[in-house]
Amino acid sequence: MISAQVIWSKALPVLQEEMTPTSYKTWIKDIQPISLEGNTLILMAQNETYVNTLRQFYAGIVTECVNKANGSNYNVSFIMKQENEPVVSVPTQGSGEQGVFFGVQSKYTFDTFVTGESNRFAHAAAVAVADNPASAYNPLYIYGGSGLGKTHILHAIGNYVHEMHPEFNICFVSSEDFTNDVISAIKYDTREELRNKYRKLDLLLVDDIQFIGGKEATEMEFFNTFNALHGANKQIVITSDQSPKDLPFLQERLRTRFSWGITADIKPPVVETRVAILTGKAERDHVDITGDALLYMAEKFSSNVRELESCYNRVVLYADFSKRTTIDRSFVEVVLRDYVSSEGKHMVTPELIKQVTADYFNVTVEELVSTRRDKRIAVPRHVAMYLCRTLTNISYPDIGKAFGGKHYSTVMYSCDQIASEIGNRTDITTAIDDITNRLTNDLTPFPSRN
Ligand code: ADP
Ligand code: MG
Repeated sequence: MISAQVIWSKALPVLQEEMTPTSYKTWIKDIQPISLEGNTLILMAQNETYVNTLRQFYAGIVTECVNKANGSNYNVSFIMKQENEPVVSVPTQGSGEQGVFFGVQSKYTFDTFVTGESNRFAHAAAVAVADNPASAYNPLYIYGGSGLGKTHILHAIGNYVHEMHPEFNICFVSSEDFTNDVISAIKYDTREELRNKYRKLDLLLVDDIQFIGGKEATEMEFFNTFNALHGANKQIVITSDQSPKDLPFLQERLRTRFSWGITADIKPPVVETRVAILTGKAERDHVDITGDALLYMAEKFSSNVRELESCYNRVVLYADFSKRTTIDRSFVEVVLRDYVSSEGKHMVTPELIKQVTADYFNVTVEELVSTRRDKRIAVPRHVAMYLCRTLTNISYPDIGKAFGGKHYSTVMYSCDQIASEIGNRTDITTAIDDITNRLTNDLTPFPSRN
């Protein structure tokens, strides 16, 4: 039987041909073909953002290219990568060269981590630990607010140590996954197995430890794991949103142990660091974006790098939609103005409608607002005007303005035209449904600004 890998490998060159280089590189290149379930090709993307974006914006073209390349009639379905599957499922390694290397994401490395005053100490401590596991600081405990790079540093330590010591047994685990492991070990009476797995590690990376607080059995298990590893001179790195003294733990002795090694906090980066983070991303993505535009974004998102990144991703995505090669400040302003209302909520605006509609019909926004009357352009224009009328509360004259200064009667006519075709012409009905779906379901949860 033909495998998902074969199908996908044939589709890739076609996708590359059909898509812009940025889209291809950003959304398609890293997809992993998983399996063929009946007639459906299952594809895995790295996280929720990717899956949402692929489902909303690229499902059509991916399906088309897969089928074009394979002369087939498959459906595609996108699933999310399970970042940290339970450790119990790790295949036990023999006494060979390679150690267990589990849960660490290769994309987070020290190379891509930008340092500044706010994280310099935490970064230095992390590098010291990665250089000399179990002899520099043990445990290393890193804490700070959301989206400030704690998880990134944790993975970076894992990647670094793995590179230096491929024979080491390394595991990255979120405290939720640890908790789940404990729960299933109790349920299936596999505690001994669980212990063996964790206790033979050379490096244990535990993310967001605050979540095990108050769960008695999990705390107990973690306490024992900690003691076993620490006693055997194995490195432990822990992250949390709070300092050890503020942790909601039942067990004082656990809290105390977290302060045995070194504690480092991360604060929100200053604007220069935020710009540097974006500059690094733009360089890696080969995105042409002005310094002014980067500064504008960096100024808008000050307390959370994750939000800053998601803003950047959105800007890049929309630049791609509107076939823009250079992103400047005014483009970013438009994107941000249109996608973030004063309450920080996603808003459907004529700008957004035009972009998504143009993308759907594979025309440009310029064509959409032009005076051209050929069907290829006129139908999308009518649809976009109709959507402006139904999804926003903008008047006919203002819609006319948004479409290159057309008279309001033209807008009325177009809207009536579409209204009368809905239900009769399936292509129009599908387009309206599809575009409305894209417009009302956000691409990614857009950050609120506060
Ligand atoms: P936390 O775990 O503290 O909530 P993450 O490590 O998940 O935050 O970081 C959120 C995003 O911001 C990640 O994509 C990460 O790569 C990025 N990031 C955060 N800080 C930095 C930094 N100093 N340099 C580069 N990227 C960063
Ligand atoms: Mg995190």
